Order: sequence, then structure tokens, then C-alpha cells
Amino acid sequence: MSSTSFKGGVHPPERKDRTKDLPVEALVPFTKTVWIPVTQGGAPNTPIVKVGETVARGQKIAESDAFMSVPVHASVAGTVKKIETRLVTGNMDALCICIEADDSGATVYMPPLDPFTCSREEALARVRDAGLVGEGGAAFPTHVKLNPPKGSKIEYVIANGAECEPYLTIDARILQEQAHKVVDGLAIAMHITGARTGIIALEDNKADLAGVLEKAIANQRCNPVGAGACDISVVLCKTKYPQGGEKMLITAVTGREVPSGALPAAAGCVVQNVGTLKDMSEAFRQGKPLIDRGLTVSGSACATAKNIEVPIGTLVGDLIPANITLNPGVIKIIAGGPMMGIAMKSANFPVQKNTSGVLFLSARETSLDEEGPCIGCGRCIRACSCRLTPVLMMRALKGDKLDESKRCGLMDCIECGSCSYVCPARIPLVQYFRLGKQKVRTEMQKQAAKGVK
Ligand code: SF4
Ligand code: SF4
Repeated sequence: MSSTSFKGGVHPPERKDRTKDLPVEALVPFTKTVWIPVTQGGAPNTPIVKVGETVARGQKIAESDAFMSVPVHASVAGTVKKIETRLVTGNMDALCICIEADDSGATVYMPPLDPFTCSREEALARVRDAGLVGEGGAAFPTHVKLNPPKGSKIEYVIANGAECEPYLTIDARILQEQAHKVVDGLAIAMHITGARTGIIALEDNKADLAGVLEKAIANQRCNPVGAGACDISVVLCKTKYPQGGEKMLITAVTGREVPSGALPAAAGCVVQNVGTLKDMSEAFRQGKPLIDRGLTVSGSACATAKNIEVPIGTLVGDLIPANITLNPGVIKIIAGGPMMGIAMKSANFPVQKNTSGVLFLSARETSLDEEGPCIGCGRCIRACSCRLTPVLMMRALKGDKLDESKRCGLMDCIECGSCSYVCPARIPLVQYFRLGKQKVRTEMQKQAAKGVK
């Protein structure tokens, strides 16, 4: 089995050894208070429960009428204690529903639904009702991805098991321990989109998973599934960051390019994280909404690196010290991986649907060097997998020339951080690009508002 890849990219130290062989430790049922962000992907939701109300695990607690939205559900049975803003991933304050867990065990799931005999509309409604979003980081609503714009023909559904971020091993563990559910979710996604080909894409540092996946694929072939859902294979990609980026993965496994500014559907592809596919299977087979998730807890300042599964809304700080023990000298706490994750000011933030990891880093894993002057070495250009010129984008943004940075491709930047990683001057290029893109979006909103008037 040969490995495929894309141009550019970087090779940060993998640092996966501490957790890659550790089974996921389930911390469910959970007996503490959870803080569930009201909106987790898509358009803003509104709470539909009140303070003092008793809720069951799996009960819908916030929703919106907007198509580009997903509901959120209670992840524990208990009583709604507060509905107020608090620190969430991204270092922002966001509205959360605080539920104090009780020991009633009350649970309300949806009735099971056969994905291969129900209508396409029923299947898409189930995916939305289950609150499914991309669990790899972006939290994009899954039903929207599975319902691409009219005129697009989906030929491939790609299960994204690349997990290219250093430290993170939760996707690999899901594949190892629940391969049958990932394959079932992939078959369901193929059935909904009409794709004839399913690919489970792995980096070649996870080639040992191919066996368990081939077995799950063979079992799926024995099931009476829908047309096309049997053509599933495993493809190995080179271990290189950011192999798990949608556009990079599509190029690596199909040889196709997603045009600038377009969605994967423009290249006939839908890409879904393997955790999302596992949860899609559960949403149909058990009627279970997305209320728990697995994540990797690691970093050299963490004495008990592990993979855990917790109810959505669990405060990371509440797991310390009973479940997570820290070493002295925590310099940085990151929600997500070290390349694309967000540095948090405290551990008291809730695990969300897209929290793939929490890292506790010490000084030796963290660059605290001051930004120096650009030496024009061009390393950032060679590292950029989107074939942009980060140095020119950065200079334009520093000079407040937003239009020029857009001409250099600012809006095509996937914020992977490869350029910052290789820059010898320690220029936090990706931070300039995140801010620059935010400015562009604000500008566009202002222009749209003017147009409406
Ligand atoms: S890598 Fe850093 S120093 Fe080199 S050209 Fe790019 S921004 Fe300048
Ligand atoms: S952060 Fe943006 S500019 Fe930098 S390497 Fe990634 S895609 Fe290219």
C-alpha cells in the first residue's frame, strides 16, 4: 500500500507515543455540573429550557430554525441551574446552560431509524436532530455537508482519519476500538449523498489500523446496505502536517483540486471526521444525539496523558486532579492540537463538540521567543500547502493593506500554522492571518448592511 500526499507542509514532532496505545477511558455517567454552550457550530441557537427545569440526558435544550444550525442536547440528567455566559474555547465568553447532574439516569433518545430504508429527507433530518457537527475542529453542521448545493455530484465520501496534529490520538483510538461504527457511518454518508466510493484516509504512521478497518469493511459488505455503500477502502497518506486539511486530503487521495474559494463538493467530495461518522452511526442505530465525545489529554506538563470520553459541557478544570494530574510548570493550556488549537487563559472551559484534545505544555514545548524582523528566507512559502505567499500577506497586513493581502490569497488560508512553525524570525504569521480574515469578514458584513439599506 503506497502513501499519497500534497505539496508543501511540515513535519513537527509527532509526540503521540504517550497515548496512542491507551484505550479511551469513559467518564460517563458523569456526576458533576456541566456547562453546555448554547451554540456549537452553525447559526446561533436559543435556549428552550428554563432555570429550575429538570432535564433528561439526550433532551434537546437549545435550537434554531436556521438551516445552517444544529440543536444541542443535555449531556447529563439533572436540573438546569443557570443560563449565563462563561469562558469557552477560543477564549470568548458565550451563553451556556449549566446543568447540575443527578443520579436519576433519566435518558431520552430518539427512536432508532434505518438509514438505508428511510427517505433521504428523513435521514438528513435525523443527522440535524442529532446535533452532528464536524468533530475534527471546524464544527461545521454535518447535515449541510451531506446536502451539497444543487448541481453538485458527490462521488467520494472521505473519512478523515489523518489526525495530523501532534499529540492527538483520539481519532486513531476511535478507529481501533469502534471501526464498525465508523464504517457504518461512512456507508450511511455515502447512501445519503449518493457517492459510489468511500475512502478511509489515514496517515501512514497509523498503517497498523488498516487490518481492523479491512475487517470492519468486510463485515459491512455482508450487510444489506444501500447501493454503492460497499465500495469502501483504506488509503494511506504520507505523515505530514496538515494532511488532515480537507483540501489536502482530497488532493492526496483522489488527485483532485478544490478550486479557490470553493467547497469540497466542487471536486465531487465530502469529507467527514471519523468521530463524526461513529456518532452518525449511533444517531441512527441508537437514536443517540451528540452528547459525549472523546478527546486526548496530553503535553509534558500533564502527568496522566490519556484518551477520555466525557459528556459535552464537562469543565476541563473539574477533571483535575481526580482524572487529570498536572506536573508543576504548566506554561500553556491549549484547546485542540498545538498547530491549530487555541491557547486558553484557564482550564475552566467546557469540552465542546469539536474539542479533540486539551494540552498542558511546559516551557520546553513552547516557544516564548519575541517576534524578530523578517529575513526574507522564503521558508514560509515552501511550507504553505495552499501555495500562498505568507510573507507577502503578512507585510500587506502589517501595512494595513487589506485588499493587497486578499490579492495574495488571505481568504484561501486554512490557518494551519505551518508558516509560523518554520519561520526562523518567530513571526506569528497565522495570528496575523486570523485577525486579517476577521477584519475582511467584518468589512463584508458592513458592506452587506449598507447594500440592504
Ligand atoms: S519564513 Fe519568516 S523570515 Fe522567512 S520569509 Fe517567511 S516571514 Fe520572513
Ligand atoms: S497558515 Fe495559511 S499561509 Fe500559513 S501555511 Fe497555513 S495556509 Fe499557508
